[in-house]
Amino acid sequence: MLPAAHAVLDMTAIVHNLARVRECAPNAKVMAVVKANAYGHGLVRVARALADADAFAVARVDEGVSLRMAGVSQRVAVLQGYTCAEELELYARYSLEPVIHSILQVDLLETTVLDRTIAVWLKLDTGMHRLGLNPEQFEACYRRLQNCAAVRQPLAMMTHLANADERTDPLTGQQLDLFGDTLEGLTGERSVANSAGLLAWERAHAEWVRPGLVLYGASPFPDRSGPDEGLKPVMTLRTRLIAIRNLPAGEAIGYGGDWVCPHSTRVGVAAIGYGDGYPRQAPSGTPVLVRGRRAPLIGRVSMDMVTLDLSELPEARVGDEVTLWGEGLPVEEIARHAGTIPYVLLCNVMPRVKLVEL
Ligand SMILES: *Cc1c(COP(=O)(O)O)cnc(C)c1O
Repeated sequence: MLPAAHAVLDMTAIVHNLARVRECAPNAKVMAVVKANAYGHGLVRVARALADADAFAVARVDEGVSLRMAGVSQRVAVLQGYTCAEELELYARYSLEPVIHSILQVDLLETTVLDRTIAVWLKLDTGMHRLGLNPEQFEACYRRLQNCAAVRQPLAMMTHLANADERTDPLTGQQLDLFGDTLEGLTGERSVANSAGLLAWERAHAEWVRPGLVLYGASPFPDRSGPDEGLKPVMTLRTRLIAIRNLPAGEAIGYGGDWVCPHSTRVGVAAIGYGDGYPRQAPSGTPVLVRGRRAPLIGRVSMDMVTLDLSELPEARVGDEVTLWGEGLPVEEIARHAGTIPYVLLCNVMPRVKLVEL
């Protein structure tokens, strides 16, 4: 028997979502972003399911090493690059491709002896102002890397969009212009688009798209859900009803007692809470599915339990499956209720939640 709280992973959905990515950007190669344990879905499991991806991107070098240890053979870019020679050596040893975003990293690459050449991604800051070279620094760094024996030629180049999930934000056009202008005349493949860039900004597609969230079936736009984009949710977070009680009008439910029964209420208790990664800030009224029908959360989310109003679901029984998000209930909708984003909910699923592949 499955533990009460578990997450079902539909690995055919992830393959479907990759096909959807290719449909959106038919001329681009796909670098599938699998950082943060593949957004909570399991790094190696997801990389294996995405055997058709052209490359992977992770945030940190140890995530890239894990992919290699698991036998993943595609190209792997490491979005944060390295901060010391010792870390840089891992890139050569494991055939990982650093994103180079600072002059310090260029210096290190010139002064470190590597036993083989590495492919690198040179990153321009076009307005995100997190990582990346300034436009004035870019060409000089490009030339230095062009002359660096350790670097496989030609270099690839990238930037990252800050506001692509806002379809009318002028920054995205400005970022694309600056990227195009700064890289003019430089040879090498280019990559710009995250999930929102892929879906909303065709100009951002270039040679490589770098989607993360959409592969897991969620939409990056604040007012939309995965199915609106032709995506299928990969993770369905489930648990069971472990108690049902009738409480009279006026009784307060849970910590703080801030939800009070307005009438005689059939209260269900489901075995999941913030200790599993369900957001504590989800307010009363946040929907769950019981027997495929919606019921609202009532009272505060506890560590291991949530309470539900089952007054409209007289057929519900102890042992029934409860869906917190996923199939039939987009994680984006729960994120909106909880005042957060689907990325956070997916990443925050705790290790005690068993992940089971469909
Ligand atoms: C996380 C990340 C992505 C993927 O973003 P999504 O919004 O999940 O598609 C792409 N590029 C970089 C640099 C990232 O950090």
